[in-house]
Amino acid sequence: EKSAEGPTKKKVVAVVGGGLVGALNACYFAKRGFEVELFETREDIRQAKIVKGRSINLALSHRGREALKHVGMEEKITSQGIPMHARMIHSPSGKQSTIPYGKKGQYILSVDRANLNKQLLTEAETYPNTNLNFGHKLQDWSAETGLMTFVRSDGSEDQIQADLIVGCDGAFSAIRKQFTRRSRFNYSQTYIPHGYMELTMPPINGEFAMKPNYLHIWPRNTFMMIALPNLDKTFTCTLFMPFDDFEKITTGDEVVEFFQKYFSDTIPLIGLDALKRDYFRLPGLPMVSIKCSPYHIGDKCVLMGDAAHAVVPFYGQGMNAGFEDCIVFDEVMDQFNEDFSAVLPEYTRVRVPDDHAIADLAMYNYIEMRAHVNSTWFLFRKHVDNFLHFLMPKTIIPLYTMVTFTRTRYHKAVERWHWQDKVINRGLLFSATGAVLGCSYLLIKNPPDINKLILPAEKLWSRVVALRT
Ligand code: FAD
Repeated sequence: EKSAEGPTKKKVVAVVGGGLVGALNACYFAKRGFEVELFETREDIRQAKIVKGRSINLALSHRGREALKHVGMEEKITSQGIPMHARMIHSPSGKQSTIPYGKKGQYILSVDRANLNKQLLTEAETYPNTNLNFGHKLQDWSAETGLMTFVRSDGSEDQIQADLIVGCDGAFSAIRKQFTRRSRFNYSQTYIPHGYMELTMPPINGEFAMKPNYLHIWPRNTFMMIALPNLDKTFTCTLFMPFDDFEKITTGDEVVEFFQKYFSDTIPLIGLDALKRDYFRLPGLPMVSIKCSPYHIGDKCVLMGDAAHAVVPFYGQGMNAGFEDCIVFDEVMDQFNEDFSAVLPEYTRVRVPDDHAIADLAMYNYIEMRAHVNSTWFLFRKHVDNFLHFLMPKTIIPLYTMVTFTRTRYHKAVERWHWQDKVINRGLLFSATGAVLGCSYLLIKNPPDINKLILPAEKLWSRVVALRT
C-alpha cells in the first residue's frame, strides 16, 4: 500500500465520477494527503463483464502522458499502447499514403479505454486515504454546504459532506446542473450533424489486417472512417457520418454497396457478413461540444474533464485535455498553498481559455480530417510547415505538433498558429512573386527566338481545332 505524501489531512475531497479523469484525479488528491471519496454510478468495471461506454480505444499523447507521469502511471499505460507514427490515408481506389504526425520518433499511442480506466481505479485504491464508492449515482448537492445525496444501485440513499467537490461526471454532468441555475454562468452545447459507429476489423491469420503503427483514415469529404489498432491485433474502425446518411442505409446489401463505393479495401478485411450484421448492431451515436465558464463555485466545487469541456473527438484531445486539467489544478494548488478559496478562481482563470481553445480546434479538425487532407494545397502547406520546422525548430512549430507533442497552452498554440500562418503565406507569396519577376527579367534580358515559339504554338492550335471538329 502507498502512503500519502506527508500526514493525512482531515479535509474531505469528493470526486464525483470514476471515469478516466475522475480516477486520475483521485490519485492526485490522494497523493496530496486529502481524504478522497470517489463516487461512480456504474458498478466496478473491473468486475463487470460488459463495459458499456464510449469508444473502445483512444489516442493518448504528450499532455495525457505528462499527467500520468505525475502519479507514476506513465510507463504502466504506455507499455500497453500501440505507437502510431503517421496517418495512413486510404484513397477511394485503395491507394495508401502516409502523413507523419511529427518528427521522426514522435508518435501518439492507441490505448484501450477500459483497461486505462481499470488501471487508474486500481492505482487510486492503493492510497490508504482513498475510498471508491461504486453504484453511487449523484442525485443532488448543495454548493453552500457541500452536502451530496447519492442513490445506490438498490435504490437506497447515501449522504455525505465534503470540503471540496470535484465534478468529473462527464459531458452530461449532474454536478454542472447546479451551475446552470446560478447567475453569470455561461454555457453552450452544440451537437454536430455527424454520428459515429464502431466496427471491428479482426486479425488475419493471427496478424493485424493492416499496418499497425498508423492511424488509418479514409477521408471522403462529407464523411470519413478511421481505424486504430488494439493489442489483440484487431482494429477498431469508427465511421463518422451525418445522421441522415446513416439512416438512408437500411439493408445489409445497401451497407455493402456503400462500402463498395467508398471503403472497398476494407470489405475483405472487416468481412462481408460481419459488415452486414455489425452496421445494424447500434445506431450512429451523437457527438456534443460543450463549453462553460466559470469552472468553480466559491471554494466548494470545481468541474474537470468532459463535465467542464466536452469536445468533439477529431483532435484526439478530449481525455488528454481532461488529464491536463489535473496537472494544471495541481500546479495552482502548489501556487496557493491548497487554499481552495484562492485555488478555484485561479484555476478557472487559467484553464477556461485553454479548454475553450481545444474545443474550437477540435471543431476545426472535424473538417480538416475528412476534407482538407484531400486537398493538394493542404498537403503542400503541411510539407512546407514541416520543412520550415526542420530548418527553424524554435520559430515555426506546426499546430498539430504544439497540440499533441508539447504542453504549450492550447490558446497560445492557436495564437501562434495564426501568426505562423500569416508569416508563411506571406513568405510563399513573396517567393512566388520573386520567381515570376525573376523569370520575366531573364526573358527580357535574353529574349528567346520568336520563330522557335511560333512553330510549336501553331502546331498546338491546329491540334486543338482538329479535336474540336
Ligand atoms: P467520462 O469518461 O464520461 O466519465 C464520467 C464518469 O462519471 C462515468 O464513469 C459515469 O458513469 C460517471 N457519472 C456520470 N454521472 C454520474 C453521477 N450522477 N454520479 C456519479 N457518477 C456519474 N479523447 C482523447 O484524448 N483521445 C481520443 O482518441 C479520443 N477519442 C474519442 C472517440 C470518441 C468516439 C469519443 C466519443 C470520445 C473520444 N475522446 C478521446 C474523448 C474522451 O472519451 C473523453 O474526453 C473522456 O472520456 C473524458 O473523461 P471524463 O472522465 O471526463 O468523462
